Amino acid sequence: MVNNNLAHKIFRREVLDLSAYHVADAAGLIKLDAMENPFHWPDDIKAEWLNALKDCEINRYPDPEAKELTEKIKKVNNIPDGLAVILGNGSDEIIQMLLMALPPDACVLSVQPTFVMYQQISRSLGLNYISVPLVADDFSIDLSAVLHAIDLHQPAIIFLAYPNNPTGNLFDANIMREIINTASGLVVVDEAYSPFAKASFINEIAQYDNLLVMRTVSKLGLAGLRLGYAVGKPNVIEQLHKIRLPYNINILTQVSALFALNHHTIFDEQTAILCAERSKLAKALTNIGGLMVYPSAANFILFRTQNQQAARIFNELKSKGVLIKNLSPQGGLLTDCLRVTVGKPSENQAFLEALKNSV
Ligand SMILES: *Cc1c(COP(=O)(O)O)cnc(C)c1O
Repeated sequence: MVNNNLAHKIFRREVLDLSAYHVADAAGLIKLDAMENPFHWPDDIKAEWLNALKDCEINRYPDPEAKELTEKIKKVNNIPDGLAVILGNGSDEIIQMLLMALPPDACVLSVQPTFVMYQQISRSLGLNYISVPLVADDFSIDLSAVLHAIDLHQPAIIFLAYPNNPTGNLFDANIMREIINTASGLVVVDEAYSPFAKASFINEIAQYDNLLVMRTVSKLGLAGLRLGYAVGKPNVIEQLHKIRLPYNINILTQVSALFALNHHTIFDEQTAILCAERSKLAKALTNIGGLMVYPSAANFILFRTQNQQAARIFNELKSKGVLIKNLSPQGGLLTDCLRVTVGKPSENQAFLEALKNSV
C-alpha cells in the first residue's frame, strides 16, 4: 500500500496544525527557565526516602485512587470536609481530563497572556478557545471584557491562574468572585504557585457550585514526580474520575509524595528562602535600570526589556551559562518580555551579573 503520510490521513486537522510543547535543552546551564525549586533534600532525608521506596511493590498496580496520598494532601492543605479531591499526573493532566469531559462544541475561556496549556489542550481537542486580553499596564483582569465574553460565548470552563503565569501577579480576588458569580459554567482557579502566594480560593469552594481549585507539587519542589490535584464539589470530581486513566499516579510518585508531605517543613523552609530571594531579585533587577519589572506573587519574575532587545539579552545570558525564558516570541503583551525563575542565591547572583553586562 502506498501511503506517503499516514498521520495526515488519520489524525484530526487540529492535531496536525499544533506544534508540540517545546522544552529548552538546559544541559550545562544554570536553569532558571521552568519555575523549579532549585534545592535538593538533605542527605539524611534522601536516605530515608530511598528506604521508603525500597519496599514498594512495583510488581503490582498502584492504588488506583491513591487513597493514602489523597488523605495526606487533604490534611496538609487543610481542605475542608465535604469537598472531593482528584489527583492527576501533573495538573496538566487535570486540565486535560476537564477538557476531555466537555461536549465537542463547548467553549473554553481564559485571559491572555496566561498558562499556554489551557489553549494547547483545548485546541488539540477541537474545542473553541477564547482568550480575553489582560490590561496592558499591570496585567490585571479587564472585568467588563471578561463579562462580555462570558455573555457572548457562555464558556463551559473558565481558567484563571492565581497567581498568573507568566505575568506573576495575583488577580484581584473580588474581580475573580464576580466572574465566578456570573459564569454559568465551571471556573477553575489554578493555584500552581500557591506556596509563594499566601492567597487561595480553597476556603471558598464550599460557597459556590461552580468553583474548582487546582494545585500541583511541581513548583513546590517535586516537579519530577508529576503530581497535581483538583479540589471541588463531589458532583464535579465524580465525573472526572470516569475520564481518569485507572492508574494515573504511579507507585513511585505515590510513595515519594507521601514521604515528602510527611516532611513538608523542608519545603516550607525552602519556600521562605525563595520568597526572600524573590524580593532581593526584584530590587536588583529594578536597580539595573532600563527594565520594567513586574510584581510577582510566584517563584519567578517577569520583566520587560527595551524595544526588540529580548532575544539578544536572552541569547547573551545563555552564552554566559544562564537559561531563562524568552516570552517575546509569544507576542502581544509579552513582546520584549523575559521571565526568570527565582533560584538559589548563587544562581540569582550569576544571573544578575550576566544581565548587567547584557542590557
Ligand atoms: C506549571 C504550571 C502548571 C503545571 O503544573 P504540573 O503540575 O507540573 O503539570 C499548571 N498551571 C500553571 C499556571 C503553571 O504555571
